[in-house]
Amino acid sequence: MSKDSVRPARRRQSRISMRAIAVITLALCSFVINAAAHAAEPGKDAGAATNLPRVLVLATGGTIAGQAESRATGAYKSGQITGEQLVQSVPGLDKLAKLSAEQISSIGSQDMNDKVWFALAHRIQQAFDNNEADGVVVTHGTDTLEETTFFLDNVLKGDKPVVIVGSMRPATAVSADGPGNLYEAVQVAADPRSRGRGVMAVLNDKIEGARLVTKTNTTSIETFNSPNGGPIGYVDTAGGIRFMAQASGLKRATYDLPANEPLPRVEIVYSHANMDAVPIEDAISHGAKGIVLAGVGDGNTSKQALDALEQAAKKGIIVVRSTRVRSGFVTRNVEVDDDRYGFVVSEDLSPQKARVLTQLLIANGVTAPAKLQQAFTATW
Ligand code: ASP
Repeated sequence: MSKDSVRPARRRQSRISMRAIAVITLALCSFVINAAAHAAEPGKDAGAATNLPRVLVLATGGTIAGQAESRATGAYKSGQITGEQLVQSVPGLDKLAKLSAEQISSIGSQDMNDKVWFALAHRIQQAFDNNEADGVVVTHGTDTLEETTFFLDNVLKGDKPVVIVGSMRPATAVSADGPGNLYEAVQVAADPRSRGRGVMAVLNDKIEGARLVTKTNTTSIETFNSPNGGPIGYVDTAGGIRFMAQASGLKRATYDLPANEPLPRVEIVYSHANMDAVPIEDAISHGAKGIVLAGVGDGNTSKQALDALEQAAKKGIIVVRSTRVRSGFVTRNVEVDDDRYGFVVSEDLSPQKARVLTQLLIANGVTAPAKLQQAFTATW
């Protein structure tokens, strides 16, 4: 081969390598630009994970952790799956927050008790005081979810978000609502806008406040509502969180937990037609420190029951008039002369929540009817 035939070939080679270098450089540049753009999108890149809020999941059991033997059956057992398993089972949860899970109990919430309540309250307070978490999610059965929500709202200090979540269908159901509810609960717990709103319940795309939320349907997934005020916000995977108002000063005073459980004994007495004094006498003889009347209408009850409640108040037992009616307020001195009897009215609090507040007040040495009434009357 002559020198002349070699030279053009070399020039071609060097032109090809110049082009290759340019193409590679361009490709590298576009990769770097794409990667940077991708990383800037929240939740789309593992690198962003370092800035994610820390959410502690505390599992207590309930249908959200329930399992059936077969998908075809309605029967199931609650509290079968751990919090860790629940967290692992929800796709995308790790993009919302840095999660850790702990098991507090594995019970149906019909068995919820002071021991679990104290364990939850202490662990949440510790996690916030030691700056271990930016938010907490508690997985819980729905039967007593509103009581735990209200209890924690009244004892936790600070403004970091705590969200209680459950589901109406077990994890094995054809259309389980637990994963979606847990996803939304973590969304709310991880969001700084959730601070200062007290303890919240998140189910079925709604954010409900501790004071008003109640279960209104035995089996439907659309069951948690706040009849006296509506939800405080809405949440869904696509739309994110929409709070209906700015965080307000509606958070009540918080009460100290006694050193040990149980909380003082407070009974709920359910009023009805043909009501006599027996359930009230029963509560007194079993050492009740307080009696909450789930009264008819505006917290009323029969003459016989009223006389028995008067006797209870004279013995120093705290008597709170609430109502079995789902919405509305119980008002002082309408058909019942509360001033004369030394009774307290629950305002908007349901019997089950009035019971919790009465327990906490007694535990904190608040027993004078005027002081008790003040504690029940929300700052509207
Ligand atoms: N009995 C169950 C519980 O409260 C019901 C539920 O979670 O939906 O644990």
